[in-house]
Amino acid sequence: MKCKFCPNSITEDERTGICHDCWWKPFPIKSICRDDLEEIFSDDEIVRFGDNEMVDLTYRMAKSYLEDAFWLDMELIGKSGRTTVNCEH
Ligand SMILES: [Zn+2]
Repeated sequence: MKCKFCPNSITEDERTGICHDCWWKPFPIKSICRDDLEEIFSDDEIVRFGDNEMVDLTYRMAKSYLEDAFWLDMELIGKSGRTTVNCEH
């Protein structure tokens, strides 16, 4: 059968009707930049965040979020219905 999301692909998965690529397609949640740090840190503090420190910060934030609120938020927000998507920030 044709995939529900990309009709040019064929899927054998009768349960979902979705091909492997669409099932595993990643949708990024958020990235951060140094400008985001302005909410919390001074400019002098922000300039001490080199690229390695930014990567470390995002890794630790993602780990914390996955351990704490990620699954609960996905359930609550996912079940709350659609909202207008703003991809600006
Ligand atoms: Zn597909």
